[in-house]
Amino acid sequence: MYRTHTCGELRLADAGKEVTLAGWVQRVRDKGSLVWIDLRDRYGITQLFLDGNSDPKLIEQARTFGREFVIQAKGTVIERESKNPNMPTGDIELKVNAFTLLNGSKTPPFTIEDVSDGGDDLRMKYRYLDIRRNPVRKNLELRHRMAMLVRNYLSNLNFLEIETPMLIKSTPEGARDFVVPSRMNPGEFYALPQSPQQYKQLLMVAGMDRYFQIVRCFRDEDLRADRQPEFTQIDCEMSFVEQEDVLNTFEGLAKHLFKEMKGLEFDQFPRMTWHDAMKYYGSDKPDIRFGMKFVELNDVVKGKGFGLFDNADLVVGINAEGCSEYTRKQLDQLTEFVKRPQVGAGGMVYIKYNTDGTFKSSVDKFYTPDDLKVIADKFGAKPGDLMLILCGEAMKTRVQLNALRLEMGNQLGLRNPDVYAPLWVIDFPLLEWDEETQRYYAMHHPFTAPKPEDEALLDDPTKWSDIRANAYDIVMNGVEVGGGSIRIHDRTLQNKMFHTLGFTDEKAQEQFGFLMGAFEYGAPPHAGLAFGFDRLCSLFGGADSIRDFIAFPKNNAGRDVMSGSPAPIAQEQLDELQIALNLK
Ligand code: ASP
Repeated sequence: MYRTHTCGELRLADAGKEVTLAGWVQRVRDKGSLVWIDLRDRYGITQLFLDGNSDPKLIEQARTFGREFVIQAKGTVIERESKNPNMPTGDIELKVNAFTLLNGSKTPPFTIEDVSDGGDDLRMKYRYLDIRRNPVRKNLELRHRMAMLVRNYLSNLNFLEIETPMLIKSTPEGARDFVVPSRMNPGEFYALPQSPQQYKQLLMVAGMDRYFQIVRCFRDEDLRADRQPEFTQIDCEMSFVEQEDVLNTFEGLAKHLFKEMKGLEFDQFPRMTWHDAMKYYGSDKPDIRFGMKFVELNDVVKGKGFGLFDNADLVVGINAEGCSEYTRKQLDQLTEFVKRPQVGAGGMVYIKYNTDGTFKSSVDKFYTPDDLKVIADKFGAKPGDLMLILCGEAMKTRVQLNALRLEMGNQLGLRNPDVYAPLWVIDFPLLEWDEETQRYYAMHHPFTAPKPEDEALLDDPTKWSDIRANAYDIVMNGVEVGGGSIRIHDRTLQNKMFHTLGFTDEKAQEQFGFLMGAFEYGAPPHAGLAFGFDRLCSLFGGADSIRDFIAFPKNNAGRDVMSGSPAPIAQEQLDELQIALNLK
């Protein structure tokens, strides 16, 4: 038997027991006749102890152990003289009477302790060592617990976990597919699923009624910070439901996770239309942990001779409460912030509502104190507040002001990771115009149903931007953690949708024929949603990066630096696939 106990379980009540432990040497402390070893496994650390009464051979042996050696230690559990209240096993130590060296180790490239000296790249290259560290191990444990909670919760609601294929047909909508050549069918390719969307809809046609799957998805997108080319979704679909049923079911799941993981209880999650989210927060995923709702100012700022405002499509601002004492330097920094290319504003106007009731603004030349008071009232501002204003084309300005609002939220400490503010954003537009390709795309995906009251607008191309979809996102703390929609289940409407997206009948048939065909055999009304599981884990784990919650993630360039993928393949493999490279 390699061990009788783990390194995390012995307590004072075990004193006197003869036990065997196995694990990794985290640290050896050698004080001459006294030697301590911290022995680590997944469950914790137990201190091993040798002293003057120990066999000198054992002490000699202990001195040969380096970091990360794998050893077995037999001995007696004894009460520690100086206890460590910070460790669960801190009341005891193991007085060793025999060691077995199970395996040696090279000196690890970084220290395997909670705080490591290893940089990101190094830790990724030796991810198997990084995972030995508590913070990483804990993240993977959290992920496991979340997955178990999700499975049990949904299973109790009659959802079946059903696997769908990984080698599927490439479809042109959405992101770019990863493709896999077929050796048996030269010149033909599978795609890896961006999501099991069409399969889960087919499962509804197949009468499975309630489906879920914790499933890997693949998207060959240009890399943005904190995106992974492969990621995991909690993918779900239900039959005979309306939007209300879907929102309630998955709000229930989210609440269950909050309760079990965080001990938090919530009333009904607030809901906001996409239109309001954009108008009041400049984002389809507003962080509502704090206020600073946008205030539109066109009616109170125009016609006072300030050309920039007079000519702007929209003048809009936020009120930073209690910030009237911001210094010149702080205001300059905010101006610099909004002028950065990532934000792209031309400049920023500020109005300080001083504590003595006077005003100081960057537009004093154009606005009298009375004018400024009218603006302040529009904001609902009080003495001591600071108003920050941007202007320009409406949607662009809103998006810029969103960046400024989040920055102010950060500066003022209003984005506390221990506070959770979930929100449903509903009524997304059905279609989105793309300047580059000069056509409409489905904002969610082409299977999303328009709102019944907006369906007629599909017949009028000038109204396409106004069509609202029965589509919804679940947002937490400014992060989109999931989204879904009511699906089209009627072939005629689905056809119309494809036409709207510029597909000919033949093209639609070629790409989506199997789903459309299925719709002719009694497709039930159905709807669903998918959560981004990695992101949900990082949110519950209080970390920013989803990488921390994936055992073997890719780096920001989409590479696995540990295994060295992607990598060229052998000429024989290419020959077998009948693929000739044509590298530029
Ligand atoms: N398949 C969708 C997605 O990946 C989610 C859904 O509509 O259920 O975003």
